[in-house]
Amino acid sequence: MSTYVFGHTNPDSDSIVGAISLSYLKNALGEDTVPTRQGKISPETEFILNKFGGKLPELKTSYAGEEVYIIDYSDLAQAPEDILEATVLGIVDHHKLGDLTTATPLECWIRPVGCSNTIVKEMYDAAGIEIPKDIAGMMLCAILSDTVIFKSPTCTKVDTKACKELALIAGIEDYKALGMEMFIVKSAVQGATPRELTTRDYKEFAMGDTKVGVGQLEVVDLKVFDDMKADLHADIKKIKEESGLHTVMLLLTDIMTEGSQILVVSDDNSKIENAFDIKLENEEAWLAGVLSRKKQIIPFLQPQF
Ligand code: MN
Ligand code: MN
Repeated sequence: MSTYVFGHTNPDSDSIVGAISLSYLKNALGEDTVPTRQGKISPETEFILNKFGGKLPELKTSYAGEEVYIIDYSDLAQAPEDILEATVLGIVDHHKLGDLTTATPLECWIRPVGCSNTIVKEMYDAAGIEIPKDIAGMMLCAILSDTVIFKSPTCTKVDTKACKELALIAGIEDYKALGMEMFIVKSAVQGATPRELTTRDYKEFAMGDTKVGVGQLEVVDLKVFDDMKADLHADIKKIKEESGLHTVMLLLTDIMTEGSQILVVSDDNSKIENAFDIKLENEEAWLAGVLSRKKQIIPFLQPQF
């Protein structure tokens, strides 16, 4: 029986590449694991898989009775619905500790670094396992994505060091240029439906006795949203109603000017205004310097509930 390795719902590049890189490591150590995913991949992840010849993990959303490793989350809201009926052998993550609990002892690699793949890199080093060239290239991209090419406040020296070493293995000289190439792919939002965009990188969080949804789109120029902002705002309103959430926010993040425009739909706008010390205008605001949902949004929102 195989063990499955997978990341969070609405998988990003870290979740997909992490499933691949962690599964390879576990197999090299004698286990029998298979990387899987909980949902559709983004154009950015598709770019990474194509660039390095990575195989798309199979789609699997039910894990009752299975053994699993999870990567890039520990929140039940981002897990498969039947995760509590699975045996979690390990967690590799770089977010706040979530609400998942287990019935059996497990391996935990949880560190405050910029990317789960940075932790996987440390795991390879600790185990003395060589990282294959193609996997190194994909891990490099995952770290460049999660750290917004080292601009995010979540980025640490461990991440930049991991990138240097992975770039050497992958034979990539100018990896910041590779990062820009990737973010330009990520910025091509034309042709996608509002729902595809609002849920592309969307997460729900338990806050107080309610739930809050926060989506994020990172682009190299916010102008790409000029014609679609009203539709995106209307769509997060629908998401809020469909899922009975207290608040839904969408961050339109400009990685060049380094800040985020937030679109808000909430039962109580004052919670958002107090969290960030702002005034919303037309349920919008500009948050200068804000690039990271996990470090600059969630910790400020949570105490309001
Ligand atoms: Mn992620
Ligand atoms: Mn991550």
